[in-house]
Amino acid sequence: MTTPYISVDSNKNLQLHIYVLGHYPMGESILIIVYERIKKKVHKSILIDYYEKNNINRFKAVFHKYNIDKQKLDIIIWTHPDLDHSAGLKNIIQKYTKESTYFILPDSLTRDIIKSDRCKREFDYLLKYEKSHRFSIERAGSSTRQCRPVIYEDIYFHDGITDPINFNLEILTPFSNHVFRKTQVLNTYTANDISLSILIHFGKLNFYFGGDSENGNINEINDEKLRGLDFIKIPHHGSDSSDNLVSKIGKYFLPPRYAFSVCTGFTFGHTNLPDSSVLSKYQTISDYIYLTDNSTHINEYGMWKFVYNILDQQVYKPEPLGDTDITTCRAAEK
Ligand SMILES: [Zn+2]
Repeated sequence: MTTPYISVDSNKNLQLHIYVLGHYPMGESILIIVYERIKKKVHKSILIDYYEKNNINRFKAVFHKYNIDKQKLDIIIWTHPDLDHSAGLKNIIQKYTKESTYFILPDSLTRDIIKSDRCKREFDYLLKYEKSHRFSIERAGSSTRQCRPVIYEDIYFHDGITDPINFNLEILTPFSNHVFRKTQVLNTYTANDISLSILIHFGKLNFYFGGDSENGNINEINDEKLRGLDFIKIPHHGSDSSDNLVSKIGKYFLPPRYAFSVCTGFTFGHTNLPDSSVLSKYQTISDYIYLTDNSTHINEYGMWKFVYNILDQQVYKPEPLGDTDITTCRAAEK
């Protein structure tokens, strides 16, 4: 298989746009766009999880801005079948997919392990679509600790002048030995045990999206993989059952650039997360921590937009979107 090369006008124009959306009282969704500035071209669009409340798609305007209503999504990653990461997937499949949309879900996800009826319906719909060959579904997970994580995208952008820039997307968790232990030995399995987590390298920048991964899987990640992260979507809404990530990252933390963490919490909602002691830990490895909820009052939803220039490794000031007046940034400047 040849490595795909994508022509761009100038590598200087390459950007990564990340939107992180959180709802009250629960719900997380992330949109990632590989973008060529000036030309305004979307080279890749990736949706990680989805949640909609009262059938309102809070990403609708964003999808429209990037022409995703016409161009459709390239990759959809469903990290795990808990309601706060799943409600409304059917609507996304109906409106924003094409034949070449690549759908990635955990390899051990079966209907039996899904608890909520709503999630079962989303799953059934997905399988129905798979049967009608509307797109391909890939089941992902890392088979052992030593196993190289699965790489789903490995592409190079070139402008004919500067060195080509690599973009790749890897699935880091779950580890099947952990899933086996929880299901067959300990019998204490939850959907979080199969949660996918994702690593994106783009040029020299590194982005981590933790899904709802918990310490059992996080402990298995090769520490080297977490070297020099510029962006962390904090796993499991800032729960202390996922906080081993901080010490693993801390081992290799190199702070020459801004390091951002972002958390979709439900302070007044579903789980009383994030845990403030966990956020304090992230302050040691982040320049700023962005929350989609509000620490003082209930907000319907909150969204943050992050824009990175890939070649010069610059990040713009993150922008609060959606319900902006009540979306807060609790910045933790060191
Ligand atoms: Zn969750």
